[in-house]
Amino acid sequence: MTPVVRYAPSPTGRLHIGNIRPAMLNWLFALARSGEYVLRMDDTDLARSTRESADGIEADLGWLGIRPTRLVRQSERTALYDAARDRLIEAGRLYPCYETEDELDRRRKRARALGKPPIYDRAALNLTAEDRARLEAEGRRPHWRFKLDGRPVHFDDLIRGPQTVNTASMSDPVLVREDGTYLYTLPSVVDDIDLGITHVIRGEDHVSNTGTQIEIIEALGGKVPFFAHHNLLTGAEGEGLSKRLGSLSVAELREEGYEAIAVAIVAVLTGTSLSVEPYESLEALARRLDLSMISHGPARFDPAELETLNARLLHAMPYEAAEPRLAELGLADEKLWLALRENLTRFPQIAEWARVVTGPIEPVIADEDREFLAVARDLLPPEPWDETTWSAWTNAVKDATGRKGKALFLPLRLALTGRHDGPELKSLLPLLGRKACLDRLPAPSGSRT
Ligand code: GLU
Repeated sequence: MTPVVRYAPSPTGRLHIGNIRPAMLNWLFALARSGEYVLRMDDTDLARSTRESADGIEADLGWLGIRPTRLVRQSERTALYDAARDRLIEAGRLYPCYETEDELDRRRKRARALGKPPIYDRAALNLTAEDRARLEAEGRRPHWRFKLDGRPVHFDDLIRGPQTVNTASMSDPVLVREDGTYLYTLPSVVDDIDLGITHVIRGEDHVSNTGTQIEIIEALGGKVPFFAHHNLLTGAEGEGLSKRLGSLSVAELREEGYEAIAVAIVAVLTGTSLSVEPYESLEALARRLDLSMISHGPARFDPAELETLNARLLHAMPYEAAEPRLAELGLADEKLWLALRENLTRFPQIAEWARVVTGPIEPVIADEDREFLAVARDLLPPEPWDETTWSAWTNAVKDATGRKGKALFLPLRLALTGRHDGPELKSLLPLLGRKACLDRLPAPSGSRT
């Protein structure tokens, strides 16, 4: 059986790091099994869904390396939902109700006061044809509820283990609003059946919907898929990451220069039994990760972990992998990359370090080091220069001046780069070349260069 999974965002904003978790878990699951990946835009809420968000989500997924096999938009599939609605009505599983929100609210309060659970009392099931005609003549339009079986529904969650939901303790869910539009449940179930979804992998905020959904799937004669409900990614304090806040949106992370794979790894491996560490590709990550490794506790996102992982990935990135992006910046030079990569936490910083090499820079020269630096300048060896030049030169400077350790190295670094820290000078020196070093080091006082 080829697995078919789906990622089903509502296009009401851009993706943030918390949304990447289900998007990526589904993708990795499909990747490891040569399965199919359906991107389903849950855009039935016409007031809040926009095409711009949908396009943005597609772009975000593309940047992350997710290539859906198929894209569907619920707004284009209404005929399917209408047909399912009619079948449920015919089967007596969908019934019209006329209560207003206020009436329902009063009933819930009354039930609570009597110590009963505030579930819908199914009063509408007793309405006669005349009652309905009278209510409709008053201008009321029905909303439609699904009649639950009221039995325990069992399913084996691939992450959380065996689950039982007792639908007897739940209100019959409203599937169709008064204006005829659908709430999330029916279109989702109809699509899962129609698209042949074999595995529903989604956030644990949906676990409570699963009992109802299984009942509807069965009522429609569909095959019940496997379910897997994962823990949600939260902020450091356990707070939710809201899509509409735009906090840590994929677009921003991309803009800030994070590696797509670093973002993917952190979004997926946080809150699992695997540690957050570099993987060479999504395929490699897919081979390693199993749904059973997802923990049941919270998954707290730590931005520092993303930063560290991103740096580790860059420090080990071979030139071939960096080359196309370096070329875009006009910096395609293997030696430059190998010398500078260890100093990057994000890729775009390469431009800043490259400027340290090409100049101009502002050498930092303390008055008390001027004489020392002038001696060092005089001792610069002739070219060609290589990785051994730095130690040959600094040994000579040490012998001539008696300086060692920080007193020897820091003034040289400050003068040559204008900075306190940075890439190893032994790799930097051949990139700078003798001419630039002569320019950056002060000439002995009184002499002219
Ligand atoms: N559109 C729903 C959501 O974003 C999909 C839930 C599901 O995967 O069934 O929460």
